[in-house]
Amino acid sequence: MVEETGREVAMERLAAVIGECRKCPLFEDAHHAVPGEGAVGADLMLIGEAPGKQEDLTGRPFVGRAGKLLECLLSGIGLSRDDVFIANIVKHRPPGNRDPEDEEIRACTPYLEEQIRIVGPKVIVMLGRHSSRYILSFLPVEFDRITEIRGTVYPAVLFGHPVRLIPTLHPAAALYNPAYREALEEDFRVAGRELAEGRGARDTGLKGQ
Ligand code: SF4
Repeated sequence: MVEETGREVAMERLAAVIGECRKCPLFEDAHHAVPGEGAVGADLMLIGEAPGKQEDLTGRPFVGRAGKLLECLLSGIGLSRDDVFIANIVKHRPPGNRDPEDEEIRACTPYLEEQIRIVGPKVIVMLGRHSSRYILSFLPVEFDRITEIRGTVYPAVLFGHPVRLIPTLHPAAALYNPAYREALEEDFRVAGRELAEGRGARDTGLKGQ
């Protein structure tokens, strides 16, 4: 188990490396890198796709309207953004909010993998099809549409940590779609149950998967 201060130092060093990164062209048009933020020993990690306009301007993940929705979803399961770690699969904003390209994802995801190693979450919720596709490729699980698999719990061992993986929709997709918002709320309740069960197993001395 990495000590809390050790984790914090490791995460700060990684953020500094990301801030200087030139491994793919995405840094060229970006104002700031958005490495990710939150509790470095969090039980729950949220993984989105890429920074948007507000995130690029502030250097923080999920600060726009989708971020507000994310905070509501967390509050629905008794958490705040300070209780979780939030990151994206690419750390600089793709121009015009286009999808990140495969080479960009390949170049950037070693940073995310290191963040998962440092945090060692019990549950990861993947927000949207890009992060779901990337994380589930380790099992491997393939899918055509995120709506086919959202809310499913995939037990896995990821980078040495036992973890429950839960794909869901991207909050931005739910801003104008009440049905998607309901789906997100449902999937966050699944995550809340998984977290509670993990804590129960730990309290009784049982080990999770
Ligand atoms: S998107 Fe990732 S790989 Fe590309 S420059 Fe930024 S930090 Fe480096």
